[in-house]
Amino acid sequence: MPQNETPRNETPRNETSRNEIEIRGLRKSFGDNEVLRGIDLEVARGEVVCVIGPSGSGKSTLLRCVNLLEEPSAGQVFVGGTEVTDLDVDIDAVRRRIGMVFQQFNLFPHITVTENLVLPQRRVLRRDKVKAAAVARENLDRVGLAEKADAYPAQLSGGQQQRVAIARALAMGPEVMLFDEPTSALDPELVGDVLAVMRVLAGEGMTMMVVTHEMSFAREVADRVVFMDGGVIVEQGPAEQVVGAPREERTRNFLNRIL
Ligand code: ADP
Ligand code: MG
Repeated sequence: MPQNETPRNETPRNETSRNEIEIRGLRKSFGDNEVLRGIDLEVARGEVVCVIGPSGSGKSTLLRCVNLLEEPSAGQVFVGGTEVTDLDVDIDAVRRRIGMVFQQFNLFPHITVTENLVLPQRRVLRRDKVKAAAVARENLDRVGLAEKADAYPAQLSGGQQQRVAIARALAMGPEVMLFDEPTSALDPELVGDVLAVMRVLAGEGMTMMVVTHEMSFAREVADRVVFMDGGVIVEQGPAEQVVGAPREERTRNFLNRIL
């Protein structure tokens, strides 16, 4: 590497790596219950990986270990070349690079949509009011909700609230977006709008890990589908293979139950 390469800062990044996320030998136990039993997974920059699997298989725990909402019991996780499982890492700096969207949207009910987007930018990124408001507007526009800027969450449908939650995550300028069953709490007729926003995001080149039961989304958008069961990755590959022609019995049984 030439000597005049960008100097290392406090969170060294391996810019030559194509992998935005690297998970190596990840294990997680809650007491005696080993929920993740050695997960190895790489997500390339700009790749969309859908994670599927039965309830209790460890999908949420996997996502939560990536942004350290859970502390892994063993193994390593790298995000953008930084080892987030390194004890010396600045957890807050890592989390700023990772947006997360949950099944429950968790918007603050007593403030407007715009204020929901402005608040974390002010608190976490220390952005000034004008800049934060501009970024809020831009991202509400991105999810098609510019006209709801001054509404309160309760005035929105569930699908609109989830799109606000996505905009709130995007306003932080993440490099990676993690989605944990983002449409599972929605009435069926509202699912499409949320998936449409995610599809656009994927098209823009966002690196995404998406836990979902929406097989049509997985087939259409995912570069790769990962099937988990019992805390391990049972099989992975392109959607047409894993969903269309699964090799493993466990995958077939799961798909037969949900499709
Ligand atoms: P999934 O998202 O695939 O449904 P989870 O990752 O939520 O699975 O859960 C996997 C297992 O881990 C479940 O048996 C669950 O009860 C357990 N688990 C998850 N979080 C906790 C926790 N904070 N404390 C104890 N057990 C947990
Ligand atoms: Mg879950």
